[in-house]
Amino acid sequence: MAAQINLFRCLSDNFGVLLHDPQSGATAAIDAPEAAPVEAALAGSGWRLTDILVTHHHGDHTGGIVELKRRHACRVVAPRQEAARIALVDETVGEGDRVRVGALAGQVIDTPGHTAGHVSYFFAAEKLAFVGDTLFSIGCGRVIEGNAEMMWRSLLKLRDLPDDTRFYCGHEYTAANIRFAKTIEPHNKALATRAEEVARFLAAGRPTIPATIGAEKAANPFLRADVAEVVQSLGLAGSPAWKVFAEMRERKNRF
Ligand code: ZN
Ligand code: FE
Repeated sequence: MAAQINLFRCLSDNFGVLLHDPQSGATAAIDAPEAAPVEAALAGSGWRLTDILVTHHHGDHTGGIVELKRRHACRVVAPRQEAARIALVDETVGEGDRVRVGALAGQVIDTPGHTAGHVSYFFAAEKLAFVGDTLFSIGCGRVIEGNAEMMWRSLLKLRDLPDDTRFYCGHEYTAANIRFAKTIEPHNKALATRAEEVARFLAAGRPTIPATIGAEKAANPFLRADVAEVVQSLGLAGSPAWKVFAEMRERKNRF
């Protein structure tokens, strides 16, 4: 049976996600922004929490761990490089490691840049990726602990996932991301289509994720720093892609 997902809101603009394996009954929370909405989602779906897969150490991704672990005695999996900054870690992971949620098999992808040890989790058979604050729909995370070149490489790894991979990110930032993206690629048709879809979803009170990697490649300027239209728009012909990315990220920070 296919994996099931429960997506819900936490804190002011975070997403919480539960990944459930119906075969074994295992359920993982991807990050734990705060305990109460995770508990409500578990109660609503009748699932039992067995695992927490942490993408990075920021408080809005880890604040619920202690309470959830106390109530569910779940396993906490966290990036090796950040384990010392995350509470109650049972298992540390890095690039290429396997992670199981019941019968669901995931692999760990190092995606540093937002934080130095940030990881993403990719479940190939399910075509699901959990990317924390590295990739957002039509945007990407701020480069806080790493540098622009590091973040660009991380985004390239996610861009290389199969086009039909559905990805879940840490925040509902899509509408603001679209406003900025239009300043970079005002004539991008895929972006215009996505903007209409997002306006519709938000008006209906629906989340704008998951999105697919294939759709993002066409519309997200932060995955397009090596595409001619974007390079030209930024006036950076001849520059390496990571520098184009860096300039775009700087502009977004000021936007
Ligand atoms: Zn973060
Ligand atoms: Fe965050």
